[in-house]
Amino acid sequence: MPDTILQISDLDAFYGDFQALYGVELDVKPGEILAIIGANGAGKTTLMRSITGLLDNGANQIKYRGKDISSLRADEVAMRGLAMVPEGRQLFPSLSVRENLMIGAQVGRSGPWDLDAVYRLFPILKDRKDQGATSLSGGQQQMVAIGRALMANPDLILFDEISLGLAPIIIKDIYKALPDIIGEGMSAMIVEQDITKALSVSSRVYCLQEGRVSLESASDTVSREDISRAYFGIE
Ligand code: ATP
Repeated sequence: MPDTILQISDLDAFYGDFQALYGVELDVKPGEILAIIGANGAGKTTLMRSITGLLDNGANQIKYRGKDISSLRADEVAMRGLAMVPEGRQLFPSLSVRENLMIGAQVGRSGPWDLDAVYRLFPILKDRKDQGATSLSGGQQQMVAIGRALMANPDLILFDEISLGLAPIIIKDIYKALPDIIGEGMSAMIVEQDITKALSVSSRVYCLQEGRVSLESASDTVSREDISRAYFGIE
C-alpha cells in the first residue's frame, strides 16, 4: 500500500480576488482518520471543496493515489473514490429519502454499500424511505447525507461539520456509528467544531488559521496550549 492516499501540496484557493487558502500542505494515509479544526472562516470548507472538485485550483496541488485531481470536476473526483458529507447536508427537497440515497450510487462504484447496507446502519431511514428528505429531523437528514456519501462506495470520505446544529444525543449516535461508517481500509477527514470529539476519533489533527496550516500533530499527544496557539494565534 502507498504511504499516502491523498497528498496536498502548496494549495492556494481563491474566491475571485480573495485568497482563502495559502500554501496548504496535508496528507492522508490509507485507513487513517484525520481531524480538521479551526475557527469560523479559517478555510476548512474551502479545503474540502477544493479536494472534491467544487473549487478550481492550480495543477498538481491535490494528488489522489498518486494522480493529480486538482482540475477534475466533482463527478470525476467522486468516481475516483472520494465522497463528501457537506455542511448543511444539501439534500434535494423534492426527492424522497431513497431517491436522495440513490444519487450517491450514480457514480457507479462497486463495494459494500447499497440501500440495504445503509438501512442496516440507520434503520430509521428504511421506515422513512418514501418521505421527502427535508421533512426529516436534522439528525435523520444528516444520516441521509452520510448514507448518500456511502452509496458512492468511497475510499476517502470527507465530513464537513459533522455535528453542526444537531442535538447532543444525535451527535452521540452518529459518533457511535462512525466505526461502521468508516469501514476497514477506508480513510476519512472530519471537520469538527468540538475539539475534544475531533481528537478522540482521529489519529492526527490539522488546524487551519486564516487559510494556513497552523498545526499538524498526532491527536493523542497534542497539548491544549498548542491547540489554543494554532486555533486563535495566541502566543
Ligand atoms: P466555517 O466554520 O464558518 O464554515 P470555514 O473554516 O469552513 O468556516 P470557509 O467557509 O472555508 O471557512 O471560508 C474561508 C474564507 O473564505 C472566509 O473568509 C470566507 O468568508 C471566505 N469565503 C467562503 N466562501 C466564499 C465565497 N463563496 N465567496 C467569497 N468568499 C468566501
